[in-house]
Amino acid sequence: MDHSATTPVDPRVAEVVHNVMVNLFGNPSSVHSFGREAKGLLHQARERVARLINAQPEEIYFTSGGTEADNLALLGYAEANRSRGDRILISNIEHPAIRNASRELRRRGFRVEEIPADPYGMIQPDRVAQMVDSSTILVSIMHVNNEVGTINDIAAISEVVHRKGVCFHTDAVQSYGKIPIDVKAWGIDMLSLSGHKIYGPKGVGALFVRKGLELHPLLFGGHQEEGLRAGTENMPGIVGLGEAALLCQQMMSYEEERLTQLRLRLWHQISSKLPWIRLNGHPSCRLPGNLNLTFLGVEGEALLIALDLEGVAVSSGSACSSGSHQPSPVLLALGLTPEEAQSTLRITLGRGNTEEEVDRVAEIIVKTASRLREVAGVKEGVAVSS
Ligand SMILES: *Cc1c(COP(=O)(O)O)cnc(C)c1O
Repeated sequence: MDHSATTPVDPRVAEVVHNVMVNLFGNPSSVHSFGREAKGLLHQARERVARLINAQPEEIYFTSGGTEADNLALLGYAEANRSRGDRILISNIEHPAIRNASRELRRRGFRVEEIPADPYGMIQPDRVAQMVDSSTILVSIMHVNNEVGTINDIAAISEVVHRKGVCFHTDAVQSYGKIPIDVKAWGIDMLSLSGHKIYGPKGVGALFVRKGLELHPLLFGGHQEEGLRAGTENMPGIVGLGEAALLCQQMMSYEEERLTQLRLRLWHQISSKLPWIRLNGHPSCRLPGNLNLTFLGVEGEALLIALDLEGVAVSSGSACSSGSHQPSPVLLALGLTPEEAQSTLRITLGRGNTEEEVDRVAEIIVKTASRLREVAGVKEGVAVSS
């Protein structure tokens, strides 16, 4: 139940990855039949990845994952458009791939400012409009937050950004393949996605770049990916990503509904039996499978370990880097205290999860949280602020 961290590879994806590795190992740059065969597979994958967001295949650039796509969008666009201005806006709850690429932008002399999310983790288009000025060249706001699952109104945000003539990027790693996205209808200029969050392989992703945009590459070498991403293509990964995208296309509306029902079931089972819990993120405008809960007076890490002992995987409200016990900067930015952030669990449901599993997890959480509170002597008097 930690699908926002990564997903198991769909067996149908694993099969095509295996087949490419063993039987279709040509280099798409080669002129002979092996190369042409690979080139055909590369194009088919590009079409499948593009179709899911209503993009053209030529607008998809394969990368080593969501992190590289985010870096290419920010650093690549900023470097290529330096003459037009030096200001870049991001939200204050972005993934480290955006946050730390922004730090590098500052080091290179750009000014990066953060647009604050509201307490639900939503970025209000009005706030964006207020902060875009004539020196701003790029705005990057994530579609779905990876911790609290809140979904942003990307069409409304991109509209206010474009009204000021500025380029708009979105990190859609958590939403791609799970909820509908339309880059054309929503006016998105650049969009990042990743394979391993959609039941595809790790180490592969893509950046959608609207036709006509100019980007500076991060890597220099051959002419692969129109010169924007040099290096022989990761064919097994790319074909696997294409297959994963196709499967998501087929299953999306069914899974969206099923996971929403599963999440509500989990929420009702926990909240009806356990007092002093709080739902983080937006109550309804959230990723179907995301449940982010604060258990006041309970150490989140202790809950996580109790679940782990039963073979159930979830995330806590600590920064995701292993070994780090700092409270999550995203939860702090949303107004949680460090104690509340440390009392938080992120449960993210996915394709393999069942009602039986949800019931069992609810039972373990209720039992463990009650026991931990008893041990800590937590009864009345826990500050409940919402
Ligand atoms: C996972 C994730 C990334 C990073 O993608 P990788 O493929 O793991 O590099 C970026 N942004 C968000 C929102 C993510 O959830």
